[in-house]
Amino acid sequence: MLGIMQDWPLTVNKVLEHANRINPTREIITRRVEGNISRTTYAELFTMSKQVSNALKDHGIGLGDRVATLGWNSERHMASWYGAMGIGAVLHTINPRLHPEQIAWIANHAEDKVLIFDKTFLPVVEAIKDHLETVKTFVIYADADTMPENSLGAVPFDIWIDGRSDECRWGDFPEDTACGLCYTSGTTGNPKGVLYSHRSNVLHTMITMQKDAIGMGANDVVLPVVPMFHANAWGLALSCPATGANMVMPGAQMDGASIYELLDTEKVTITAAVPTVWLMLLNHLQENNLKLPHLNKVIIGGSAVPEKILRAFEEDYEVDVVHAWGMTETSPLGTLGTLPPHMLDAPIEKRLEQKLKQGRPPFGVELKIVDDEGNDLPNDGETTGRLMVRGAAIAAGYFKGVGGNVLDPNGFFDTGDVAHLDEYGTMTITDRAKDVIKSGGEWISSIDIENIAVGHPKVANAAAIGIYHPKWDERPLLVVQPAQGENPTKEEVLAQLDGKIAKWWTPDDVVFVSEIPLGATGKINKLALREQFKDYKLPTA
Ligand code: ADP
Repeated sequence: MLGIMQDWPLTVNKVLEHANRINPTREIITRRVEGNISRTTYAELFTMSKQVSNALKDHGIGLGDRVATLGWNSERHMASWYGAMGIGAVLHTINPRLHPEQIAWIANHAEDKVLIFDKTFLPVVEAIKDHLETVKTFVIYADADTMPENSLGAVPFDIWIDGRSDECRWGDFPEDTACGLCYTSGTTGNPKGVLYSHRSNVLHTMITMQKDAIGMGANDVVLPVVPMFHANAWGLALSCPATGANMVMPGAQMDGASIYELLDTEKVTITAAVPTVWLMLLNHLQENNLKLPHLNKVIIGGSAVPEKILRAFEEDYEVDVVHAWGMTETSPLGTLGTLPPHMLDAPIEKRLEQKLKQGRPPFGVELKIVDDEGNDLPNDGETTGRLMVRGAAIAAGYFKGVGGNVLDPNGFFDTGDVAHLDEYGTMTITDRAKDVIKSGGEWISSIDIENIAVGHPKVANAAAIGIYHPKWDERPLLVVQPAQGENPTKEEVLAQLDGKIAKWWTPDDVVFVSEIPLGATGKINKLALREQFKDYKLPTA
C-alpha cells in the first residue's frame, strides 16, 4: 500500500525559491576581487539565477550538460550554481588551486561546455585554452568596466545576463537527476568525479541544518571561508539560502586581517574553514589584541583540528568549536563534533578532549569500522579499522564508472580513513589508510604526532611519514616547518611529544624544512613529502 502524500521532488531550485519567498531581503555580502564589497538580496539572487538559466539556454545548455566554474565564493558564483542546476544542467566546480594541466584534464573528462571564472584565473585559462576540447563559451565574473583583455572571446558575466528575462521553468525533472560535479583532489592517481544528485544535495542540506550538525537559522550570518569548489562549501551554498541566513563571501582574500574585518563588520555568527585559515586569523587576533564578540560557532574540518586552535577559540575567544569530518564523496559532512548529552556537564578538559575527536554522524549518515577482510569491528573507542560510510548523500561510485565498484556488499563506501568509534558513535580518525605508519606490524597514528608537535610555539607545521626501516619495516620521521624566526631543535620537538604518545611512537628522527608542501585543498601533501624523503636513512636503521 502506498502513502497518500504529495509528490514534491527534492530538487535544489526549491531551496532558492524558498529563500526568495520567505527571506527575500536576507543578503549575500561579497568581497569582490577588485576589493570592494557588494550586497545582493536572496530576491536579487533569484532573479540573477533565472537570467543565468536563460543565458545558458541560449547557448543550447540543457539537461545533463556540464557547466564549469573556477570561482571564489561570491553572489555571481551562487547565481551560476542555481541558474545551471535549476534547468537540470550539472554545475561542475573546478578547484583553481590544482595544476593547470590537471584543470584541463578534469574539464575534458567532465566534457564541460561552458566555463565561468573569476579574472584571477584568466592566466590559467589562457594557458590551457588550446587543450580544452569541449568548452565553447567563456564567461568572466566582471562587468563592462572591470572586464580584463583576453584572447578567449569571453563575455563579462554581468553583460551576459543583463536584460534577460527572469522567467524560466525550473526543476521539471526527477529528483535523482545529476546536479553537481566535484572531482576529488587526486592525491592518489587521477582525480575522480563525484556526481551529486538533486535529491542528495537537498537531503544533505536538511541533514546539515540539524542542531547537532551546523544548525543555523534565518538570524545567523554565515561566513563560508571554505570555498564553493571544495565540496559545495560544506553544503553552505545550499543550507544558507534554505534557512535564510545571510552569507558573507570572502572572495579571494582569506588572510587573517581580511577575514577578521568581515567577521567584525558583518557581525558574523557562524564561520567555517580548514585549520590553516584559523591559524592565520588567530595570529592576527593575537598580534592586534582583537576580540570576536559576535561569533558563536566555528566549524573546522578538512583535516584534524590541532589542540592549540581548539583552545584558542574556546578559552581565549569563547567561540564554540565544531570539529567536522567529511570528504567530497560524502557531500561532504559526515560527522560533527557537537557535544553529546552525556558530555555537557563534563569538566572543561574532558569536553575539549571530546571536541578534538571528529564527532558523531547526524541523522542520515551511518558509520562502521571493519578490518582488512571487511569484518565488522567493535565500537569500543579503541579498536581501529577502516572507516565505512552509508547514507542519503554518500557517493555510490564515480563519474563515468572510474574506479569501478566502490561499495561493500552492504552498500557502505570505504573512506580510506582509519578510525575508531565509541559506544555513542563518536568517531576518531587516527590516519588515512595510505598515510598510516606501519611499525613492526602495528599502526602509528601520524595525525596524533602531528597535532601534538604543532602545539609547540616554535613549530608552524609538522608532518609524520613512514620511512623504511630494516627491522620494523617503517618508523616515523617527523618533518617540521619552524614558526617564523624560530629555530627549534630536535630535542625540543621530541620533548613536546614526551608522555603524550606511546614511547614506541616517538619519531626516530626530526628534520626541518622551510616549507611543508600543501595540496590543492590546503592539506599536507604527504605524497610529495614521501617522494622528497624516499631515500632518507634513519639514524636507527
Ligand atoms: P582529498 O581526499 O583529495 O583530500 P577531500 O577534501 O574529500 O579530498 O578530503 C577528505 C579527507 O580529508 C578525509 O577522507 C580525511 O582523510 C580528511 N579529513 C577531513 N576532515 C577531517 C578531520 N576533521 N580530521 C581528520 N581528517 C579529516
